[in-house]
Amino acid sequence: MPAMDAIRARIRDVPDFPKKGIVFKDITPVLQDAATFKLTVDALADRWRGERIAKVVGIESRGFIFAAPLAYALGAGLTIVRKPGKLPWERISEAYALEYGQDALELHIDAIGPGDRVVVVDDLLATGGTAEAVGRLVARQGAQLCGYSFVVELAFLNGRRRLGSEQVSSLVTF
Ligand code: 5GP
Repeated sequence: MPAMDAIRARIRDVPDFPKKGIVFKDITPVLQDAATFKLTVDALADRWRGERIAKVVGIESRGFIFAAPLAYALGAGLTIVRKPGKLPWERISEAYALEYGQDALELHIDAIGPGDRVVVVDDLLATGGTAEAVGRLVARQGAQLCGYSFVVELAFLNGRRRLGSEQVSSLVTF
């Protein structure tokens, strides 16, 4: 089976999670199967090999699962973007809109610097609001955003358009 089909086959639809009417894409079966997890990380790395990536930026919390092995595979550093109140050192913050209300994401000020070539990683792209806020954090530090990488993209929500289509790569699209 081609790699992307193997990944797609292990993404599970969970109806009414986290609330009624939402069909959640559960990526835990991808992680639980050794061969599928390996080929997922390998496919992410294939996209960025040779691009001189200095830092892989993972978004809390499922983004961390893929960002860490990707950074290792690329020989890059790992930068974590976290929910408010989790990072201990000096940090910058960017707010973003949720369906109801807003949330924020934070980055240590010494995590990435001017000219660093970075890739932003998360498990899934939906509306793009989360990744867009991380893009703003990266820009504020003067780093060079090479692109966004996702395991799953929900194409019907048009997150790609919001982030700039040429900036986005994803392994599996629904
Ligand atoms: P966005 O900001 O693009 O609308 O939402 C993407 C963020 O919400 C990501 O951090 C992602 O982990 C999470 N998310 C939203 N919907 C789903 C889903 O169906 N499955 C998973 N695994 N994550 C989701």
